[in-house]
Amino acid sequence: MSKKVLVIGELNVDLIVSGLPTLPALGRELTCTGLSRALGSSSAIFSRALAGLGAQVDFMGKVGDDDNGHFMLAQLQEVGIGTQGVVVDPAVQTGVTISLTYPHEKAQVTFLGSIADYCLDDVNLDALGEYAHLHMASMYLQTGLQSAFPDLLRRAKELGLTTSLDPGWDPKEQWNSVLLEALSALDILFVNEHEVKAIAKSESVSRAAIALAQQVDLVIAKLGPEGALMADQGGVLKSPAFPVQVVDTTGAGDSFNAGFIYKYIVEGGSKSQALRFANACGAIAATRVGGASSVPSAAEVGTFLTQQV
Ligand code: ADP
Repeated sequence: MSKKVLVIGELNVDLIVSGLPTLPALGRELTCTGLSRALGSSSAIFSRALAGLGAQVDFMGKVGDDDNGHFMLAQLQEVGIGTQGVVVDPAVQTGVTISLTYPHEKAQVTFLGSIADYCLDDVNLDALGEYAHLHMASMYLQTGLQSAFPDLLRRAKELGLTTSLDPGWDPKEQWNSVLLEALSALDILFVNEHEVKAIAKSESVSRAAIALAQQVDLVIAKLGPEGALMADQGGVLKSPAFPVQVVDTTGAGDSFNAGFIYKYIVEGGSKSQALRFANACGAIAATRVGGASSVPSAAEVGTFLTQQV
């Protein structure tokens, strides 16, 4: 299996705070019972999930020359992800997301650091041609690279790569021309229910996905416990979620994306097979704590699928 995937994206650690008695308040000090550090960022979680399934993955991005940066590199390397393209810059601090977790919700604060600092000059464009597929994510967090997303995706397509993007939520809710330009250089757009409606300015997920499929070959909307929906020129296909005991949905969307790219691009399966496989990856991720600590192998996903009726 030689279809190599390149991820160009953001890198940050997650500092996960748990066991909080109440919400924090100004002027007060709270104590908590749990604190852990984990691989964070959509792009890195996607990469780990894809490598866990058995794909060859290389990463391009930026970290600071600090303990969090070294931790991120080690976490990627541990599952065989190539990190030669990750710039280690002593002048910046690695990004950090502090996640205050409560039983059913979490409050997050992100220090962008190296995420915002990463820019087109840091990308090794000469290496693009070595890959079969380019995946990008979190366009709105990567403020230094954001305007170059369409150009990078276009260059990749010109070199014969297939391309995918999971832009994430736009905090400004403008869904600007950069995204619209990026769509024209995309094979696969991954969005969730809220994003697809906002981008297409439609209240119906399927109508929104059909509208966007006029611009992108394949639009995939992740619908949490409802599964996922896929739209292309041929119409819409819905695939239900698998019933599982949900523990933590952190990273479920990224695991879903990795499952789809693995089945459709790396293995060359059909779109409908890939949608089912992706739903299984999302469901399995939802049964495990954390985003990327215990990602399933392709064999585990296969076993899970054979157990479904
Ligand atoms: P995102 O994290 O991108 O918002 P979702 O929350 O929609 O994505 O979850 C991604 C995928 O994970 C879903 O499409 C589905 O396949 C799976 N998933 C999420 N929540 C559940 C759930 N409660 N039960 C089963 N599968 C789920």
